[in-house]
Amino acid sequence: MNKHEMHPESLMMSHGYKPELSEGSIKCPIFQTSTFVFKTAEEGKAFFEVAYGLREKDEHEELGLIYSRLNNPDLEILENRLCLWDKAEDCAVFESGMSAISTVLMEFLKPGDLLLYSNPIYGGTDHFIKQVLTKFGIHVVGFKTGQSEAEIQQIIDNSGHGDRLAMIYVETPANPTNDLIDLDSCRKLAERNSRGEEKVLLAVDNTYLGPLWQHPLQHGADLVMYSATKYIGGHSDVIAGACLGSAELMKRVKALRTFFGNMAGPWTGWLLMRSLETLKVRMDQQARNAREIARFLETHPAVERIYYLGSIPEDDERNQEIFKRQCLSPGAMLSFDLKGGEKNAFKFLNKLRLIRLAVSLGSTESLAQHPASMTHAGVDPELRQELGITDKLVRLSVGVEHYDDLISDLKQALDSLS
Ligand SMILES: *Cc1c(COP(=O)(O)O)cnc(C)c1O
Repeated sequence: MNKHEMHPESLMMSHGYKPELSEGSIKCPIFQTSTFVFKTAEEGKAFFEVAYGLREKDEHEELGLIYSRLNNPDLEILENRLCLWDKAEDCAVFESGMSAISTVLMEFLKPGDLLLYSNPIYGGTDHFIKQVLTKFGIHVVGFKTGQSEAEIQQIIDNSGHGDRLAMIYVETPANPTNDLIDLDSCRKLAERNSRGEEKVLLAVDNTYLGPLWQHPLQHGADLVMYSATKYIGGHSDVIAGACLGSAELMKRVKALRTFFGNMAGPWTGWLLMRSLETLKVRMDQQARNAREIARFLETHPAVERIYYLGSIPEDDERNQEIFKRQCLSPGAMLSFDLKGGEKNAFKFLNKLRLIRLAVSLGSTESLAQHPASMTHAGVDPELRQELGITDKLVRLSVGVEHYDDLISDLKQALDSLS
């Protein structure tokens, strides 16, 4: 069988690793080293010529190992494996999702540029865009899920900086309401607002559906980013991030990463490789569990409304259509409104036993939290209301436990409300 025809999950244990280079070890060792020994001075010179872009690589030449801020086997093999899921040309891993995101924003934006971003957006990203980028003279303007292409174009035009639009940055599905953003339509906006050689880039934070359930690069995105802390790491034991895209763009991302020095360390790289071996089985089970839980929640009288991609209302044709085109699964994140506002939401959260009360998502254990007072506490209260992040909303990240046990835990906590 041709290697390229194999499914990514079949290659997660072997791709990019040569046991004969590591004493036959079946697993890639942790290359806990800061620097690498050159065989000869000539080799060292040749490696540096490529690293500093003083000459192009020969056809089969790879960047030689120099120093762990530039490259390290644990990172390179991990990056090669991550490329398989998104069918990306190249990948860079970072010490956190935020470092992947901030590096991308800093590399592709300069003073006077305009950044268009979607709402709601991850709190850390929101802060970085509004508080940090603006300090460097970058103009920023937001749009909301549900707005049409024409409405978004209007926002760009009304910003007064439409002729300097440089990037459209989106997060879809939106956290925590699972509202969808149409990537095709964002692609069209990026093209329409590009000026000759000055292309508007489309960057997508794909953390919420992870590398299995949505492939933004196949829908016209230029860059896709992950908090690898979530599904990719998947065990709530490591903070990490990743960015993927074309070789041309990733060369720039990797260059800035070298100078910020925010690449992942070898131990993080090794942990993520361990995690990738089970990515598919974990996420499949999580999605299966979420489906069962959604079915249960829909029937419980204490639940007013659920926000889950597997139960988009029939009459919501817009979200139905985007879901079918863009998403490969309803995923394992769901939210729901509880009758009785914050009081009942807190009572419910305090009653949970198996499901833990914590932020973060995508891990093996199920987690519940209250977005309005926790993950989204920093969002302007008025905008929070508009986005449907109300006091009665609870968010659930579904893990790999048996769904009977998860449902039984949810049931006892919900029953306590009446
Ligand atoms: C967690 C998260 C981030 C930030 O990632 P870290 O690994 O915590 O730095 C960014 N975007 C989304 C959607 C997230 O859930």
